[in-house]
Amino acid sequence: MLFVPNKLLLEKAMAEGYAVGAFNTNNLETTRAIVRAARELDSPLILATSEGAINYAGINNLKTMAEIAAQESGLPISLHLDHGTSLEIVMRCIRHGWSSVMYDGSKLPFEENVANTRQVVELAHLVGVSVEGELGRLVGVEDNISVTEREAAMTDPDQAQEFVKRTGVDALAVAIGNAHGFYKGEPQLDFIRLEQIRARVEVPLVLHGASGIPDEGIRRAVKIGVDKINIDTEVRAAFQKAVASFLAENPQVIDPRKILGPAIKAMSEVVKSKIELFGSVGKA
Ligand SMILES: [Zn+2]
Repeated sequence: MLFVPNKLLLEKAMAEGYAVGAFNTNNLETTRAIVRAARELDSPLILATSEGAINYAGINNLKTMAEIAAQESGLPISLHLDHGTSLEIVMRCIRHGWSSVMYDGSKLPFEENVANTRQVVELAHLVGVSVEGELGRLVGVEDNISVTEREAAMTDPDQAQEFVKRTGVDALAVAIGNAHGFYKGEPQLDFIRLEQIRARVEVPLVLHGASGIPDEGIRRAVKIGVDKINIDTEVRAAFQKAVASFLAENPQVIDPRKILGPAIKAMSEVVKSKIELFGSVGKA
């Protein structure tokens, strides 16, 4: 297998006390920016692709771009499905060479999430592919909910223990007040809850929606024992800003390479700063 399963990357991270960054990509520029950053810092890497990214770029394009970048880098790189919500997309990715999949049944009732995740684990493990499950709902930044509802959406430590035991997942994504997209104000992470989950669960833990969490919060989460951290929004924002400012200054330029070139550099800088923050420099 060309790509390295998450299980191998994350167990090393867990043993050595750092986190591996999972960065979302959906095109050539982003893929190259992410891999370039990891190569400069000699870091392991997870290239994450959502269903939306697969639909946008085409599964073969996305896979081939990742494959070439991974080969050229010589780094241990995983190609990972982010938030797969059906067995169909999971199996498509496995068939096309992904080394890791997330099955996200977090919106389903607990028993259904357990049953579906268990099924994905049984199939994926037959061919050495790692599986990430999710328990607890990530509340979107746009969701207007009360404190009680916010609490109820978070991962329950006892349930997390049961979930991991019954499903056999290789990693667990937790909801501790983290959210996708940009945060309105300071994110309030429940570190006590994270410690309780860490104490009950033996597999690596995953923090989604880490864009916008202050560095201090990330360091604390890694110290408690988060081993995989997902970043998407901040990389997108760097892309948008670089393209917008280039076009504002150079409205006459029509060459896509000139327009997108500065964005590769800007995205790469964001990824590098995250890799440094997660502590995976030199861990390839
Ligand atoms: Zn996510």
